Amino acid sequence: MDIFTAVYFAALVIQIIIRVPLTKMRKQEKMSEQRVTSQEKALLGLLSLGGLAVPIIYAATNWLDFANYTLPAWASWLGVLFTAGAVFVFWRAHADLGLNWSPTLEIREKHELIARGIYGVIRHPMYASQWLLVIAQPLLLHNWIAGFLNLVVFIPFYLLRVKAEEQLMIEKFGDQYRAYMQKVGAVFPKT
Ligand code: SAH
Repeated sequence: MDIFTAVYFAALVIQIIIRVPLTKMRKQEKMSEQRVTSQEKALLGLLSLGGLAVPIIYAATNWLDFANYTLPAWASWLGVLFTAGAVFVFWRAHADLGLNWSPTLEIREKHELIARGIYGVIRHPMYASQWLLVIAQPLLLHNWIAGFLNLVVFIPFYLLRVKAEEQLMIEKFGDQYRAYMQKVGAVFPKT
């Protein structure tokens, strides 16, 4: 395994380590609202295929070698930089969102609107970190399939998810969330 593939998997492991404690603590939470569509489930399934299964096949077998490409070293190092940035943003987002985090769209009984920390800079830091990761992926995994599958799936996932999530947040928090949207950008900070 080359160093760039190793960086890709290391970032995955770090993300799991960040999420495990929250996943455990969330089990005691009472939810008041859950919204999962079959469309979203399908896209989440494809994301785990493109994020984990296909990269493992790329790293562990030669089945995908026909679709390999080469990149200049600087491009792969740029991928490392994006990955490091993504992991940092991912960690801050989990630290700030705490128990309000959920893998699918959910509102817990004690849900709180978080607009502090990294949520004071952008509204969707976790999705911003996923953008950085799916852009980094083809720079780290030099293969048309293992590199790009996640990017292709993430685009519709992001568009659908953000629309549904903001709708849910507006239903729950009303003008408070509308004011937050006015003030804070989605994945780029407002200038
Ligand atoms: N879009 C955010 C959060 C993703 S986790 C991000 O990219 O960081 C998804 C859950 O977070 C949703 O079910 C929603 O209930 C919750 N959520 C999203 N934004 C929130 C906020 N500002 N405060 C509290 N909960 C939020």
